[in-house]
Amino acid sequence: MIQFCVQCEQELRGRIDKRFCSDSCRTQYHNEANRTRNQRYNHVHRGLKKNYTILKTFAKTGKSKLQLRELILLGFETTKVTGVKLAKSGKITFELYDLTYRISDKNQLEFVKTSPTKSQLWPSDYSKKI
Ligand SMILES: [Zn+2]
Repeated sequence: MIQFCVQCEQELRGRIDKRFCSDSCRTQYHNEANRTRNQRYNHVHRGLKKNYTILKTFAKTGKSKLQLRELILLGFETTKVTGVKLAKSGKITFELYDLTYRISDKNQLEFVKTSPTKSQLWPSDYSKKI
């Protein structure tokens, strides 16, 4: 049975399980596959970075409450977070890297924490392993 290169469709010679005619075709094939896959990740990463930039800018000013509407108009996406926690009180907090916030009933974003705690930087169980 004649086999053809997956990338350029040139006839293959050699091993029966060979898929590519050359390293160049193999690399090109995988780069194209990864490019498509990475576009999805990059979209999410860009959204997280944009949200973080917007919140960090406000956090530096010392404001602890922000109108969610204003943030959305600036491009903030409420679905782009790095963590969600449900407290025993029933309140939901959102994490965006080292920022923690919650959304009030008045559609205000309230910062709970704007910088990492010492235990987050150096968890006690982590330092024991060193
Ligand atoms: Zn080829």
